[in-house]
Amino acid sequence: MPLFATPAPKPARALHRLCLLWLAGLLGVSALPPTWGARPAPAATVPMRLPTSVVPQDYQLHLQVDPDQPRHQGEVAIRLQLQQPVPARGAIRLHARGLQLREVWLETGARRWRGKATPVDAERVDLHFGQPLPAGPALLTIAFSGTVAEHDVFGLFRQQEAGHWAVFTQFQADGARRAFPLFDEPGWKVPWTLSLTVPQALVAVANMPVASEEAARPGHKRVTFQPTPPMPSYLLAFGVGRFDVRDAGTAGRDAGVPMRFIVPTGRAADADLAAGITSRILAALEAWFDMPHPYAKLDSLALPLTTTFGAMEHAGLVTYASTLLLASPAERTPQFEREYVSVAAHELAHQWFGNLVTLAWWDDLWLNESFASWLGDKITDQVQPAWGWHTSVQRARAAAMRADRLATARRIEQPVLQDEDMGNLWDAITYEKGQTVLAMFEAWLGPEAFQTGVRRYIGRHAWGSATSADFFNALGEADPALPAAVRSFTRQGGIPRLAVTLLCSDGPPRLQLAQSRLLPLGSPSLSAQRWQLPLQVRTPAGSTRLLMTEAEATLPLPDADCPAWVQANAGGAGYWRAAYAGDGLARLAAAPGLSVGEWLALLDDATGLHASGDVDSRQALALVRAAAVHPSGEVVQAAMALLRHLEPLAAPGEQAALAAVWQAAFGARARALGWQHLPTDSDDDRLLRAALLPAVAVRGDDAGLRQQALQLARAWQADRASLPADLRVPVLTAAAHATGPGGGPVLFQQLLGVLQSSTVRTERGDLLTALGQFRQPGLPAQARAVLLQPQIDLRDSLWPLLRAQAADPAQRGEVLAFVLREQAGLAARLGGEELPRLPGLFNGACSSDEARRIEAGFAPAMARVPGGRGALARTLEAVRLCTAWRARQASGLSD
Ligand SMILES: [Zn+2]
Repeated sequence: MPLFATPAPKPARALHRLCLLWLAGLLGVSALPPTWGARPAPAATVPMRLPTSVVPQDYQLHLQVDPDQPRHQGEVAIRLQLQQPVPARGAIRLHARGLQLREVWLETGARRWRGKATPVDAERVDLHFGQPLPAGPALLTIAFSGTVAEHDVFGLFRQQEAGHWAVFTQFQADGARRAFPLFDEPGWKVPWTLSLTVPQALVAVANMPVASEEAARPGHKRVTFQPTPPMPSYLLAFGVGRFDVRDAGTAGRDAGVPMRFIVPTGRAADADLAAGITSRILAALEAWFDMPHPYAKLDSLALPLTTTFGAMEHAGLVTYASTLLLASPAERTPQFEREYVSVAAHELAHQWFGNLVTLAWWDDLWLNESFASWLGDKITDQVQPAWGWHTSVQRARAAAMRADRLATARRIEQPVLQDEDMGNLWDAITYEKGQTVLAMFEAWLGPEAFQTGVRRYIGRHAWGSATSADFFNALGEADPALPAAVRSFTRQGGIPRLAVTLLCSDGPPRLQLAQSRLLPLGSPSLSAQRWQLPLQVRTPAGSTRLLMTEAEATLPLPDADCPAWVQANAGGAGYWRAAYAGDGLARLAAAPGLSVGEWLALLDDATGLHASGDVDSRQALALVRAAAVHPSGEVVQAAMALLRHLEPLAAPGEQAALAAVWQAAFGARARALGWQHLPTDSDDDRLLRAALLPAVAVRGDDAGLRQQALQLARAWQADRASLPADLRVPVLTAAAHATGPGGGPVLFQQLLGVLQSSTVRTERGDLLTALGQFRQPGLPAQARAVLLQPQIDLRDSLWPLLRAQAADPAQRGEVLAFVLREQAGLAARLGGEELPRLPGLFNGACSSDEARRIEAGFAPAMARVPGGRGALARTLEAVRLCTAWRARQASGLSD
């Protein structure tokens, strides 16, 4: 929906130039290899799909774009193949949203017809020509104009950085139709020739290298890019602005890929990390696929601000949120390095997965995203082995299961039948669940055999489109049992619960196993489900495997005597939660040699099994204490997460007992680490310090740590270099909870002053998080009022501040009242893409009363935005589950 007034359209332009464009395009296309060309999309039986009787062959697209102007105009020439005649009253249907189509022409052979555009709905138009059109080749030309968005980071949009406007694009999934009329479906994979008329002084970049540049109207130039290889519309991208272009030489096999970083003026040096490491990521990917990077170049373009995404894999022109790509030396933290490398590896993996081989339709989005995350993390681990990045599988598993525990969870292979369905696709099910399922079956099949299957799939469908069935066929050649097993996870939602009973009497040691869907307390009963679980079980005597296809199974163990412990998820990548009978959980936690990944899975399983009533608080607290002393900071953080999970159970009178648990488990370690980074620290120490110190200071009620933090916060205001960027939030969080001279309202006002003057995006985000931490009377409301100042950009300001407040049960009611009261104003300043995220602020709510207020307050607005209904339903289910869980589990703190 448009959020600002649309100026009147400008006069129509003469159209005769379009034919010349097209001829020039034909010459360009004829140079492409003969195997490249359009593949018809699958039959359009879905109402939102376009008919398959009109097949686009290639595009010549010219846009006039001036970042200082809120509108753009252009012409597009689309070479078509009409598969059947179009009757006189028939139409050619294509996508256009919010565009004025000024002139429409169709040519077949020597004949030429003028067309008339009739809107079908907000997304589609019908072109009528009033004549029967013959089957065969045709050329469709359209002159159009439209609006360049300012709030939305979607479609064709502009943003300001350091006083200069720049224009960018984000077309996935259906944004291209906001920029120009087209057949906007991913299965139409065709060559594109793009030209841009832009102000003379600006830089214009796109997917391909520049083919020619010529003078246009006074003060402007026309930049024409080389034709692309076959590419879906969602991968088309360009940027126009006052950029610095940092040349990073060439990368890839035979040094064949020119690499550049395109950044806001003056920030070239901030791309140091990216410029140094990206070629290594690319080389590792080429080696994994045994195939060179598929495109002519690799540019990385910084977007000042993104909202619902961090980066986008456009062929040859990857776009990144500036905070992911760029960091000054002072802002370059271990977290920044991990984020850039893992995100870049994900986006570059897409150059094969998604770009070279594209999904035929959006219901196979998981083929892009699961693979890019799974392979991107594998490559990150290769490029930076010291980071221990292989545990990303357990992080993904935890995120996936948080989403997948809900009865409303969707499945990985999700039918996309209407525009509304598109709003729900980019989530933890597509990314993290898909990634975990791939990792699980890779572990089952073995990395080499899995890689061979994937290479076979990529080789078979290169430059074309593919479906899940194509992928399963390729995998099935490695192991015929695999496709059905993988599908048992991709075609149904939910987490398998594996009941594990060790039997040692009346025969040799064996496991009695039973699978069902894991249902958190308070879940509706669901029909019975079954998976094909690739079980890898470890006991003191060794490992055992079983592809468990039935509801129940007996697994003989290799142990001569009754084993001391059973690990029913060896490696920790299995997508099930093992519920051990008797003292099986405690025995496993005491087992020697559990890997970090196994600990992470075990601790996360404890949160899920506590929610389902399989584990009680006493068992969970014992696990927290056991894991708190683990040498790995990551395991300690998982133990902290388990303790935070238990916190809503603490009664008001148990707060001191809860703080004592924090202190007993983590206090000594926090104080030993201290607030200052040391030259001898590992990255693990630094990451743990940032997580542990504020938790112990606030949740562990450690007045000493809070006072130290207040001193550091005061010193930081005098000398901003005194605090490393990764300690800003931890120190300011703890300081916000400090009392006494210089704390409370004094510190609040000081931080507010720093926020008004700070121009560093990451620092501003940190300050907003810190402002969300103050609890003294009046300050939370003052912090929220900051968001009502018109000069604040809500898109990157609202979330850190309100998330920090909404996480506190004592604040949540006020935050909810504020968001509902200001909803319309906040929505207008956030942009449409972000609206469905608002209910998620309250996922931690835990009472029927809150559920009622959330439902009543958000339902009307969420019904109007794509994905809104689903997002609200998931929040409501989470709140109701928490309510039921709190009614049925005891805190265990008074035992
Ligand atoms: Zn991706």
